[in-house]
Amino acid sequence: MIQLKSKLPQVGTTIFSVMSALANEHNAINLSQGFPNYSCSERLKNLVNEYIQKDMNQYAPMPGVYELRKALADKAKKLYNIELNPNDEITITAGGTQAIFSAINTTIREGDEVIIFEPAYDCYAPAILLAGGIPKYIELEFPEYEINWTHVARVINSKTKMIIINNPNNPATKILKKQDLEMLDKLTQGTDILILSDEVYEHLVFDKKTHVSILMHKNLRERSFVCFSFGKSYHVTGWKIGYTIAPPKLTNEFRKAHQFTVFAVNTPIQYAIAQYMNESDDYNTLSKFYQEKRDYFIKGIKNSRFEILPCEGSYFQLLSYKNISDEKDLDFAKRLTIEKKIASIPLSAFYNKNTDNKVLRFCFAKTDDLLDKGIEIINEI
Ligand code: GLN
Repeated sequence: MIQLKSKLPQVGTTIFSVMSALANEHNAINLSQGFPNYSCSERLKNLVNEYIQKDMNQYAPMPGVYELRKALADKAKKLYNIELNPNDEITITAGGTQAIFSAINTTIREGDEVIIFEPAYDCYAPAILLAGGIPKYIELEFPEYEINWTHVARVINSKTKMIIINNPNNPATKILKKQDLEMLDKLTQGTDILILSDEVYEHLVFDKKTHVSILMHKNLRERSFVCFSFGKSYHVTGWKIGYTIAPPKLTNEFRKAHQFTVFAVNTPIQYAIAQYMNESDDYNTLSKFYQEKRDYFIKGIKNSRFEILPCEGSYFQLLSYKNISDEKDLDFAKRLTIEKKIASIPLSAFYNKNTDNKVLRFCFAKTDDLLDKGIEIINEI
């Protein structure tokens, strides 16, 4: 028998796969894993077909198709008023998760500390651990999920190599304010601390608030890897395609890991998205689209026994069940899936100590008929 000592002994299968599988097994409505149940644009689908037919089917350049990187530089100019050089500041990735993995693995060494805020999206800690780093967990204060910067200041020390922020935050559904970035700038000035900013939900920000990207902050931008996802912006999570923006020196290191993780990302989809972006800036309509879904969902369940927590961004709604049960959130989520036929994600999955505030996350990126079914079930619980 071979002896295999796990490098990730605490890590099991991601909660998204667990809950989606349970939903399928029990024929439950799946509001757990975040993905839309509607189509992306017909034009975008046709463009992908066209580029496949045009035989753009061989390897793309390692950093991504130039036309797509150029379209992204143009978008950053429009949205964030910054000049990016497509050649050495933008890299197309196989989704947000790969981008995050590559950024961490190309910079973090044995013993380096990386600050992450909990609830933390579940791919951060394993990537840090595989790199030999030490995750330093800071809990966002429940139920506001604000960052306590005084606490952060206390955790930072000479071993701190990176701080990961997630804005809008999945699963906390919270967005960062300008003042948060000011604090981050103040705490990192004069240090070599890197920032990894996960902004995959950049276009899903509600109630007339605006997304405050790290890219808009001159100082912070110089030390940041900023990760984005086409999956969220174009309703194509299964295409697994995203990108990372970072200054040339960081991009250079990023690509060293990227080229030996995926080498390059699939070619026809890159051409298709590039052309689509030149034809349309329909990502500007996403906030309105998703805000309507959020409002439809919460209006439907406002008389239920769940408590509705504020949702500032992302396509998730947090519901507290503290008035319904004192079961552990994982048990409760599984029971709702099996007995009531509705699947959600228990928030304890995003804490290293499995902190349980009796909160479940529901994805509202669904058509009204599916949301209606969900609403009906939630009202009966
Ligand atoms: N980002 C999605 C979510 O939060 C899940 C992605 C995945 O399943 N890895 O639900």
